[in-house]
Amino acid sequence: MSHTPGPWKRNYRRITPVGGPSDGTGDICHVYGDETIETMNANLIAASPDLLRACKDVLAALEKATQETGEILWLDHVLPGVHESAMERLQNVIDDAEGRSKTCLDCGEKFVGPTELCDACLDERDGIDEIEKTRG
Ligand SMILES: [Zn+2]
Repeated sequence: MSHTPGPWKRNYRRITPVGGPSDGTGDICHVYGDETIETMNANLIAASPDLLRACKDVLAALEKATQETGEILWLDHVLPGVHESAMERLQNVIDDAEGRSKTCLDCGEKFVGPTELCDACLDERDGIDEIEKTRG
């Protein structure tokens, strides 16, 4: 399952796929509210498929550069310590956009995984289980 393929465009309050039907049946969504904010929201939504593609391309380039060199020297030089968190944020936003992110039932943090708890909460729970086993 995937989203409606891009590119999308803004047509006043409507977000539609480029080349899609003009009768509204293929509309992605409609936005409402203050005209200026509405326009900015519509522009942002219409750019979503392109933003997602750009995030994936940049993340892939950063991952490739990291694999080849072990680190991204040029980015570390320009923005010390930033590339790992930038890569993590890119992956997080891609996971959000593609519907893989979940919210941990214990701590409320976003994560990706097969369970309903993040790794940290699972580890904490495992630790509590071990303590309870040893106590009998
Ligand atoms: Zn958690």
